[in-house]
Order: sequence, then C-alpha cells, then structure tokens
Amino acid sequence: MTAPWIPALVMLAGLAATLAGLAWRARLWLTGRPARVDFLRGLARMPRRYLVDVHEAVSRDPVGGAGRGDTGQRIATMHILTAGGFTAASVLILVVHVFGVAFAPLAALLLGALTVMAAGTVLVGRRRRPEHRAPRLSGGGFNRLPLGLAAFVAFFFIATLPLAGVSGPLAWGSPFGMALVAVGLYGSLDLYGGLARGPLKHAANGALHLAFHPRPERFREADADSGSPAALRPLDLEAERLGVREPRDFRWNQLLGFDACVECGRCEAACPAYEAGLPLSPKKLIQDLVAAEARGGTDAAYQGSPYPGRPLGQARGGPDHPLIGEEAMIHPDTLWACTTCQACVHECPMMIGHVDAVVDLRRYQTLEEGATPGKGAEVLEELRATDNLHGRPRESRLHWATDLNLPLLAERGACDVLLWTGEGAFEMRSQRTLRALVRLLRLAGVDFAVLGAEERDCGHVARVLGEEAAFRNLKEKNLETLDQYRFNRILTPDPHALHTLANEYDGLTERCAIEHHSTFLARLLAEGRLAPNRRADGTTVTFHDPCYLARGNGETQSPRDLLEGIGVEVREMEKSGLRTSCCGWGGGAAFTDVPGERRIPDVRMDHARATDAETVAVACPNCAVMLEGVVEPGPEVADIAEVLLEAVEEESMEAAS
Ligand code: SF4
Ligand code: SF4
Repeated sequence: MTAPWIPALVMLAGLAATLAGLAWRARLWLTGRPARVDFLRGLARMPRRYLVDVHEAVSRDPVGGAGRGDTGQRIATMHILTAGGFTAASVLILVVHVFGVAFAPLAALLLGALTVMAAGTVLVGRRRRPEHRAPRLSGGGFNRLPLGLAAFVAFFFIATLPLAGVSGPLAWGSPFGMALVAVGLYGSLDLYGGLARGPLKHAANGALHLAFHPRPERFREADADSGSPAALRPLDLEAERLGVREPRDFRWNQLLGFDACVECGRCEAACPAYEAGLPLSPKKLIQDLVAAEARGGTDAAYQGSPYPGRPLGQARGGPDHPLIGEEAMIHPDTLWACTTCQACVHECPMMIGHVDAVVDLRRYQTLEEGATPGKGAEVLEELRATDNLHGRPRESRLHWATDLNLPLLAERGACDVLLWTGEGAFEMRSQRTLRALVRLLRLAGVDFAVLGAEERDCGHVARVLGEEAAFRNLKEKNLETLDQYRFNRILTPDPHALHTLANEYDGLTERCAIEHHSTFLARLLAEGRLAPNRRADGTTVTFHDPCYLARGNGETQSPRDLLEGIGVEVREMEKSGLRTSCCGWGGGAAFTDVPGERRIPDVRMDHARATDAETVAVACPNCAVMLEGVVEPGPEVADIAEVLLEAVEEESMEAAS
C-alpha cells in the first residue's frame, strides 16, 4: 500500500487538534471583560513584535544562569532553528502533502526545512537533559518536547524522500510503514496539539497575545507619547465590580496573555520575593491564573517548584470562582508578597503583565473586601485621614528642617526648582538624605523652594495596595496645589514619587520637567556647579538601583556618572541596572509584611556584600531604610546625595546632620 495521502492525514490530524484546543481556550478567554483592541494594527505589527521584542528578551542571558553551558544567545539560536524550521516545514507540508503539489524542488525545500528543525531539536534535547536543565524550567510536557520534535521530523522527512526523488515509494502497510505512521501521529498531535495547550502554545496563543496585547506601549514600535509601560492603568470607580475577583473579571486579552506563558521561569529567577523564600513565584502565579480559567481548575498538574509550605493540588478554581483565598488558586500571602518591582515583567519573553494582574486583584481585595493585610489597612486609614502615610499633621512635614529656613513656594509664588520632599520627610533616616540634598542645592546656587504643609503624599502606596480612590483623591489635591504656582522643574529624591508624578499624574510632564535627584545632581557635577574638594579615589561603592528609578523610568546611568565623577570605583552587583533586585519596600510590601524564609533586604544585602564594596549607595529613601535595617554586618548604606556631599564639602556631613 503506497497511499500517498497518509502524510496528509497525519498533518490534518495535528491541525484538527490545534483547532480543537484553540477553540476550547478561546471560549475561556472570551469569558473575560471587553477590551478596546486595534485588531488590524495589532495583527500587522505582530511579526515585528515577535522578531524584535520577543527575540531581544530571549537572547538576554537569563538572570541566575541559562542552564549549564547555555547562554541567552544559544537559547535564541535554538529557538530560531526550531521555530523557523517548524513554521517553514508546516507551510511546505501543507503545499506538498496536503494540496499534493508534488514538485521535486518543493519537496527538497521541505527536506531542508526539516533539517533546520532537526538541528534545533538537538539543541532542545541537550537543554532538557537533567544535567543541563536550569532549575527555573518546568518539566512535564516541556521535557517531552524533544521527543515530539524528533518524531515529527523523522516522519515527514522519510515521507518526503520519495517526492524528492531520493527513494522509492513507501510501503505504509509494512511493519516499518505502520510504525512510522504511529511515530508521525505522535509527533503531529504533540506539536500541533501543543500549539493550543502544550509546550508550543506560545507559537499560537503567544502570537495572538502579541497582536492583541493589553499594553501596546510595551513594544519598541510604541509612539513616544503612549505613556510609561510601568504606569498603572486607571480603574473605573463607577464600575459594578471594582478590580478582579474571578478570572472573568480580567479583560479577555489579559486572559489570553496569561495563556502565552511558556513556563521558562525567567520571571521566577528574577523575583526578589521568590529568592527570599516568600510564597510567591511569578511563574506559578501566571500558571495558577491559567488553570483557574477552566472549570474545576487546580494546580495539581503544575510542573514547577511549589511555594514553601503549600503542596500542589490543594488549590481550586474556575471562571466564576474567587481567585484569592486560603483554598483558592492564589493564597492571599502570594498576592501581598509582591513588591510590584517589575523584574518579572522586564524578564518575560512573552511580555506578560504580572504587575497589572496583581494590582487588579488587590483592587478587589482592598476596595470591595477591605482585606488589605498587615499594616497595609492602617496605612490606608492614615492616608485617608491625614494625606500622609505616617498619620502626622501636615504642618509637621518640615520639622526636620526647622534650622534650614527653607523657602516656601506659598511665600515666593514662583521658583526654578520645586523640591518634592516625599514621605521621607517624616522619617529620620530619609531626613539625613534630604538635608544633604538641600545643602548641595545651596552650594550649587539652585533657586528652589518647597511646598511644606501643602505637599501631600503622591498616592503611590495607595495605588499599589489597590486603593485607587485614595490615589485619585491625593492626585487631584496635589495637582490643585501645583496649579497655583510657577516653577520649571520638580525635583525629588524619591523614585516612587518621581514615577507617580511623571507617569500617573495626567499632563504634569507637559507643564514642567520632573527629575530624580540622581539625574539632577549628576548634571550639576558635570556642569561644574558642584566641584568635589577631594576625590574619592580608591573608595569602593556598589550602587543599588531602585526598581522605580531603573525599570520604572529607565534611569540607570546618572547615579553611576555621579559616583564615577567623584572618583569612586563602582562595583556592580549581579542584579543591577535594569535587572536590579528590589529592597523589599515596593508594592506596599513593607506594610503587608508577608513572612518568608528570609527578609528581602537581607538577600539584597548579600548581593551587595558579594561585591566587597565599602559602601552600598542608594537613591531612594525607602531603600535606605530597608538596607540599613539589615542586622548582619555589611557595607555602609549612604544615599548618593550624602556620598556626593562628603566629596564636595569635607565638613559637610556634620553640617548636614
Ligand atoms: S513584581 Fe517583583 S515581587 Fe512581584 S512577582 Fe514580579 S518580580 Fe516578584
Ligand atoms: S510569565 Fe513569562 S517569564 Fe514567567 S515563566 Fe511565563 S513566559 Fe516565562
């Protein structure tokens, strides 16, 4: 029996599995809320997003290592060979075997595509061997993938040889022929079925997710005015339900996005909460959301690392089942352990929005259930009552500066630079930074003023804890205050305030520049308006990039320019720059205080200690507090304003304190 239709049948069986799987998943995605999507534009831009943005992320060396002997570039090569070969082979199989265009050069081309795919398969197989496998990778179907790839390649290669004129017709009825069909069916069903539900699902779900992405501003093609990808989306406070209680409260394209996850674990390796042994892995969080989309969802089949103290198989979910709860798919501790540091978002090759999901879930817990844990609820109460995190009278915002005679904007009406003190004004450690900064501004002759009692908390903590109404209230009051005065620039030592004012206060950047003190001070130094009296040559410093300065606003260079400008030797931690690791304060985590095996700042101090630097320089009042709170001996903690002042004015530290 020569039956040339057999390869077509094997191919069509696989495609039927793809369509059935996609239809099943699409039905689940479409239970989500509506989303405004530019379908045509998204589809047109999808190939570029895949080839540029996804491949840029894939080719980076993953945080914590790619697996023995692997690099990001090797993973990218493996991906190009396998995916490119598979795509080309699929098209050619359709033409040659299904549509029957038995033209020898086309068959030879198909053999070439299958050979490329075979080269990728060898690399996939090598990477999945236990001695090479990075711990962040999931097992299960992913470990079987080399087998499916090899079966697919072997079947179609042998089935195409006669069409290319290399061999005679195949006897499909012989034992060899029948075994080959079995191999082919396994390969076809595993790969094409896997496009919707298995290891290759990023090829189908991922492509749709890239086309209909909830945040097109995350791609390089984004227009300059499309906003910061790290800015949270506004919540409709008039909506029937605030935030997300169950899977169908997410927008449909968010549900689709979760389904694009390939369990590569790059997010897990970057997550500071996971590293500290808290019950949070961004990979499992996304997989739990995927499992929860289907009725009777459970995490029993999850093939990655479980959370400490929570065995797999206990969680239950479904499209209308609450997502957060002791027995639900996501434990409350998991939700509140997140520092919203965006490390997972930055590392994810599939551009999944973990932080958006976390904040959507928190909004429901805070606004509808009043279930903000730990001191989070108290802090929100203080904010609502006093407009600051500490529950202090607004008049006390300048108590740290009673001897400094700071110019008030209310008295001056206008100034060049408005110094936004932030909530550090109420906290002793941060007051030292503020005093150093004020001293530097005076030494450089900067025309500045402060708002004093008129400054309110910017609303960042309220927003990341899900309290959108309190954020909105603070934003409106602050904008009203700012509207009364004239100034050219807002300067702040607090990256959270910088991020919120620059990216989440509508229109403020059109009115004035908004800068972090590291950017501003580095410029004063470069322009010679601040001149070091003594070079700090030989001093070793490691710089801890604050998440909201680096990943939130892309500023990683100025602090280093500043330090190098005074002769300091900067020693980099493994996780630095855009790949920095959180100090543990972000996302309100300092208030919700979820226990883990270790504290996040202790882990971060280990990173700093590993550089052997004398000082860990910070550029955020909260990082200073968290890292100074580490009890084990380690490098001295100093804000870059303090480091600079020490170089500019030898007597300065006494003067500032
Ligand atoms: S935002 Fe940070 S803490 Fe939260 S899941 Fe992602 S990496 Fe972990
Ligand atoms: S969420 Fe992204 S980074 Fe994390 S495992 Fe999935 S694909 Fe990988």
